[in-house]
Amino acid sequence: MPRKINIAIDGHSSCGKGTLAKNLAKDLGYLFIDSGAMYRAVTLYLIRNQIGLDEVHRDPSVLGNIAIHFEYDPEAGFFFTHLNGENVETLIRGMEISSRVSEVSALKEVREFLVAQQQKIGEEKGVVMDGRDIGTVVFPDAELKIFMTAEPDVRARRRYLELQEKGIPADYDDILHNIRERDVMDSTRDISPLVQAPDAIVLNNTDMTREEQAQIALTWAKGVISMG
Ligand code: C5P
Repeated sequence: MPRKINIAIDGHSSCGKGTLAKNLAKDLGYLFIDSGAMYRAVTLYLIRNQIGLDEVHRDPSVLGNIAIHFEYDPEAGFFFTHLNGENVETLIRGMEISSRVSEVSALKEVREFLVAQQQKIGEEKGVVMDGRDIGTVVFPDAELKIFMTAEPDVRARRRYLELQEKGIPADYDDILHNIRERDVMDSTRDISPLVQAPDAIVLNNTDMTREEQAQIALTWAKGVISMG
């Protein structure tokens, strides 16, 4: 039985971290966790319940009413995000949440709440998690850390096509603007900013197909696993 490792995939918004992480988890028989979906679900909860960020800061116990879990749908071959038992996968991908999530994720109380859950999931190993602070904060001891990036216009085009495919209304210029804005907010926030872990390997996929990057990452993962 090969040893199990944790794999941290961090990087900029919409550069294909989720797709890469999902493929890698499938190939290795590991659990895939989309940590961004957790921040999006918290954002949805706060908007729906009209809870302001100052309120969360004053009384973080309001976060205790939020239960997030992922359910695998074998037909779709996909993990759907559930918020308090409701499938919110489509809702959390829309522009309203995308434009509010970075403010929510900059809040210390929200990060502490979600990081604790993410670390618990990783205790047993065999997890591929993607996000912004996985290799630096959530799993600083991850055996493999990948830092992904790509040019903003390439990311915006991919995101636009993905939303169109899912039937979610989208405007290319809005997406590009949102991606640039999130890059700045995520990289400059005080708590757990997006930075490359010193021991992460960079994967710039501007000119790569999905298959090429999947192959590269799988080779890296197998190499680390076999070093056991
Ligand atoms: O990965 P995704 O783009 O869906 O993440 C949405 C937002 O959640 C990011 O722009 C970032 O603000 C936040 N996030 C974070 N830390 C993570 C994952 C996501 O701050 N580990």
